[in-house]
Order: sequence, then structure tokens, then C-alpha cells
Amino acid sequence: MSRQDAVRALRGRLLWFVGDPHGAGTAAHRYVEDGLLIVEGGLIRAAGEARGLLPTLPAGADIIDHRPHLIMPGFIDAHIHMPQTQVIASYGAQLMEWLNKYTFVEEQKLEQQGHAEKLSRFLLDELLSSGTTTAAVYCSVHEKSAEAFFAESHRRNTRMIAGKVMMDRNAPPALTDTAESGYAESKALIGRWHGKGRQLYAITPRFAVTSSPEQMAASQRLVAEHPGCFVQTHINENRAEIAFARELYPEAADYAGIYEDYGLLGQKSLLGHCIHMTKREWRAFAEHGAVAVFCPTSNLFLGSGLFDWERARREGVKVALATDIGGGTSYSMLRTMAEAYKILQLQGRSLSAFEALHAITLGNAVALGLDQLIGSFEPGREADVVVLDPAATRAMAHRLETARDLAEELFVLVTLGDERNVVATYVMGERASGCSTH
Ligand SMILES: [Zn+2]
Repeated sequence: MSRQDAVRALRGRLLWFVGDPHGAGTAAHRYVEDGLLIVEGGLIRAAGEARGLLPTLPAGADIIDHRPHLIMPGFIDAHIHMPQTQVIASYGAQLMEWLNKYTFVEEQKLEQQGHAEKLSRFLLDELLSSGTTTAAVYCSVHEKSAEAFFAESHRRNTRMIAGKVMMDRNAPPALTDTAESGYAESKALIGRWHGKGRQLYAITPRFAVTSSPEQMAASQRLVAEHPGCFVQTHINENRAEIAFARELYPEAADYAGIYEDYGLLGQKSLLGHCIHMTKREWRAFAEHGAVAVFCPTSNLFLGSGLFDWERARREGVKVALATDIGGGTSYSMLRTMAEAYKILQLQGRSLSAFEALHAITLGNAVALGLDQLIGSFEPGREADVVVLDPAATRAMAHRLETARDLAEELFVLVTLGDERNVVATYVMGERASGCSTH
């Protein structure tokens, strides 16, 4: 039997979602105190009580005992920038100044031999050690940056969405492509990578400010020619950015209208930030099925504003959660949700631990349209898994001495947790991160 076909089982406290706890409450999650997750050929075969499932294992099956740790579907990050891993924690600027002063300077280094490879390895290591097994990744304007990222992700067999940034104005000359070259390079990357193994392509015009109408039209052509690809871009993050975008596209109804006019607001469109949205823009998102991507640590760090999750729900707009490194300040989706909680608190609302953990697993999978592949322990899903120790730090172990139930334990995990709580990460059933002993 080859390694790929081998049956492997993880034993521990299983937790996954089958619906959205916001509407379905406790019926939305499955929790098995002494559970077994059986993986075969990289896919989930069964998840349930260890007592019932252990006798179904073939002789010689590899059983990894993670008790008493929690076993969950791997986390999903819907927006992150590969070239910004050395931009994170840059002082004192809001969006437009931050882009010019830090980001555009750092991104020029991707032209150097080997740099994109180095950053790709770093980013994938960091994501996996934070328990994140899928991310939607912005590479740099250089075709080879996306090539390097896909190659590294393919080597590790991780399910990643990525794209070469397209920008042909309002950026340093070394960082601009043209409408034609951006189109041609994106098309070549789609041909080489979209659907190869677990890799998926996102057509990536950075934002309306850095793309001319000709480049937006080229993006529209790519979307029409490759409807299976994602689109990722930014919108309504910062007041100065919005004013600039409106000035550049005076004929558009509003910022969302710019993307709408070029057919870039669709079911597979992931739009970062969506903080300062008009009524019409929310409606346009709902009508086209576009995804609003909430990036809590970035929105706080850059002083951009507070995302109105309740409003998005009310308008029927899909929401995905993301780190937005390097505007964001943590690779951990747990830390990201702790900041989401605070942003909601500032608006007089709160977020339960179940809602938070749903958001970064099944919730993001649904928003990305990938829930038939990842995000839960339903049979047939890809076995991307994170193993968590909620008592990993002294402060957390101390706090948990007084936790009375699962909801309270999970709330401590979401509020105080980060990559230190990740015991192991599995990609298609293979251990990708974490200590080798169990
Ligand atoms: Zn971003």
C-alpha cells in the first residue's frame, strides 16, 4: 500500500461546523469528546466517536493520539500579501502613505533573484505553523513571484489561491506592468497553475487606484475567458483612497461601481476591507454575490475603520475573514478573530467563540465557494487539519482552571490564542507542521 492510500486516524476532541452558528446556534457544530478522524488517500473518510470507529480501522492503520487536544479543520485566510512579510509592523502611516513609504519599496525586492522563493517558503511555513492551510494570496507585480509561490505551494500540496498583482499606474515604475503585459502574464500563470494539483488562480488588479481603465478592461477579459478563477482586489478601506479612486473613475456610480462597470464584482470576487460602504454598494455586493473580506488587525493597525459585519449580514452579503499581512499584524486566524471581537464590541455587538471558529473554517470555505473541498470533516473533504492545545500558555492554562464548559474554553482560545496553541497542522492527512512527537 502506498503512503497516499494508507489509512491514518487522528484521535482527540473533534470540533467542526455543519452550519452557521449565527442562525443555527448549537446545531451548527459537531463536538466529539473522544473522537476519531479517519483519513484515507488524503481525504476524510469518517469523523465520529473513537469507540465506534476504532474497530473499523484496517490492521496496521497509523493512529496518532492527540488527546486531550482539539482537532479542527485547518484555518482559511481570505486575504494576505506574500511580498509584505517584511513590511508587517511598519510605523506611523495610514494606507496611501504606508503603500508608498513601505510597501512599494519592499515589493521592488521581488525582482531580485531568489527573493520570491525565500518569501514564499517563509509565508507557507508561517501559515502552516499558525494552523492556516488555505489562503488567498497577493503576489507582487512580477510574474515570477506568483510562479515561485505556486511552485512552493504545489510542492507542499497546500490548497492555495494566488495571483500576480496587476498595476499599471500610481506606483513606482519598477512595480508597474501594462494593460497588455499584465493580461499576458496573468493568462500564462492561469494556464500553468489554475487547477494544477490544489492550486487556484485569482485575477488580481491591486485596486482601482493602481489600474488604468485599460487594465480594468484587460482584467474583465481574463474573467470572461477564465470564469473558474477568483478575482481579488481592495475597496473602501480609507477615505483618501476612496476620494482618489472616485477622482480616477468619475463616471462610476461609486467605488463598487468601478469594479461593477468592468464585470469584476461576481460570485468569485474577494474584495478586501469594505469599511466605508454606501447603501448602494452593499446592494451591489448582494446582487452580484461578491464577498466582503474583513481584515480586523489591518483595519485597526492602519486606522482604517470598523467593518460593519451586522450590516453585511442584513444586506445578505457574504463575509470572509483575513489577516491582510502586512497591513495586518498577526498570521494567526485566532488572533485575527480576537480583534474582530473587539471591532464588534466597539459597535455594541459581540461574537461568540462558535461564530469566530466557524468563520475561519467552514464560513470562509463557503464564502470562497470551496466548502465541497475544505472547511469541515464531512466525508470526502480534503484532510487539512489543525490540532490545538487551548492550554498552551501559562496564562491560558491558568484561566482555563475556571472554565466551566466548552463555550467558555473556546472563548478563551479565541481571545488569547495564537500560533503557540498549534500543536500540529496536517495537509491532506500528512503532517506539515508541529513537533514530531505525539
Ligand atoms: Zn490587502
